[in-house]
Amino acid sequence: MTQTVADTPATVSTIGHWSRGGAFAGSADRFAPVTNPATGEVTGQVALADVADARAVIDAAREAFPAWRDTSLAKRTTILFAFRELLNARKGELAEIITAEHGKVVSDALGEISRGQEVVEFACGIAHLLKGGMTENASTKVDVASLRQPLGPVGIISPFNFPAMVPMWFFPIAIAAGNTVVLKPSEKDPSAALWIAELWTEAGLPDGVFNVLQGDKVAVDEVLTNPAIKAISFVGSTPIAQYVYSTATAHGKRVQALGGAKNHAIVLPDADLDLAADAMVNAGFGSAGERCMAISALVAVGDIADELVGKIADRTKDLRIGDGTRGTDMGPLVTQVHRDKVASYVDAGEADGATIVVDGRNVQADGAAGGFWLGPTLIDHVRTDMSVYTDEIFGPVLSVVRVDTYDEAIDLVNSGPFGNGTAIFTNDGGAARRFQNEIEVGMVGINVPIPVPTAYYSFGGWKNSLFGDTHAHGTEGVHFYTRAKVVTTRWLDPSHGGINLGFPQSN
Ligand code: NAD
Repeated sequence: MTQTVADTPATVSTIGHWSRGGAFAGSADRFAPVTNPATGEVTGQVALADVADARAVIDAAREAFPAWRDTSLAKRTTILFAFRELLNARKGELAEIITAEHGKVVSDALGEISRGQEVVEFACGIAHLLKGGMTENASTKVDVASLRQPLGPVGIISPFNFPAMVPMWFFPIAIAAGNTVVLKPSEKDPSAALWIAELWTEAGLPDGVFNVLQGDKVAVDEVLTNPAIKAISFVGSTPIAQYVYSTATAHGKRVQALGGAKNHAIVLPDADLDLAADAMVNAGFGSAGERCMAISALVAVGDIADELVGKIADRTKDLRIGDGTRGTDMGPLVTQVHRDKVASYVDAGEADGATIVVDGRNVQADGAAGGFWLGPTLIDHVRTDMSVYTDEIFGPVLSVVRVDTYDEAIDLVNSGPFGNGTAIFTNDGGAARRFQNEIEVGMVGINVPIPVPTAYYSFGGWKNSLFGDTHAHGTEGVHFYTRAKVVTTRWLDPSHGGINLGFPQSN
């Protein structure tokens, strides 16, 4: 939803861009409302950049690049360490901002910051991964060395569901490697990025190295096509990820575009059902199901389904739904529109003949009446042709599909269009080993429901969950944000052989 200046209530503050080390208002006259999902109140309006605003922010990153790439690695990592210390000391402030605009409970907001901080810590040690190789005497008196160099200004386009962690999958490594950054956060929760930008300035990052561009498709399109931007890291829904990948690669950029998900957990008959039920509640309803690694489809194998569904349903009774600042377990959904869309999937599942075991549509929440509430919802006897199964719902809705065999369960997961995360629950090591070998998914958990890799590994799915060939952070992240150069050197000495027009060969 966009609005013009004339529609804007006078009391609402404007959330702008960050460029050249300070706030930048831009000149566009389009804005989007920013809402507190726990109250339904509009708390701000975010500027939606026009092309001129976007170019001004990209120019800041372009102009800052030459000096930053030539800043010594020692100085760059010193600033990374300072940023890490400030973030660690003040992460509570950032968590409150996230809760106020996203709605997730404060403890969960702190959790996402911690996972992002891991990448900052990984990037503090980047020197080891930027070391090149060197071969002396590759040919007679000829040495060959390899270097990795930064790309230039890079664009990061992030989704609403992790306003701190997802940008932090990328920018610590991009900056440590000597690139400059333009971050385009989600217009639904734009303030976390500005808080992070201020922290960078406090940590001593030179002006223009980290910039924030607020906006919608107009801003994104300029980042995707502007020749100054050399690489794009995108995270969001699959249709936009596909669009970003095709547009930016057509403009000569390196792209990693992470898309949507529909993550399955398979529970085998020999599993510990209490452990599995706990895991399903945590992974299905944590952050109101608005996680790309949430479990949204439970595949119950054999005759355990009744008992497992009963255990999950029992556990949902103890969950406290409400305002994320009140010590609750689960907050609201991000917008009223999204809340209603998720609820409509539950309606559709019911109409299609599935069994609504736990119904969150009329939940009594500990929060304001205007909040975007939808409680945990458990749907059993879901068939694979129902929209509640086929679509990414992105809400607190867990569908149970019953199958008879392990092979049926594997086929179900492997035949789906997404391949982000998956998990198996079993006490049979052989079955688990076969699962990790056969399953066509990028991130696999064995008795672990949300297998988000730690920062020194890389995060990314398969199939429609990732476009491009490089996953986020870890060594793949370092490769993404650097390019290789090989230097072949010969210093003339008395053995210099004179003119030879033949093709150079080792000798
Ligand atoms: P989204 O695709 O609507 O938006 C993502 C970003 O793209 C935002 O910055 C938005 O402003 C921009 N955007 C939206 N429409 C655009 C358009 N038409 N043209 C250009 N840019 C556009 O996603 P969202 O609703 O913010 O986030 C939820 C989605 O993100 C879910 O599908 C979820 O699975 C996915 N996600 C995936 C991962 C992963 O690691 N694979 C992680 C987090 C979220």
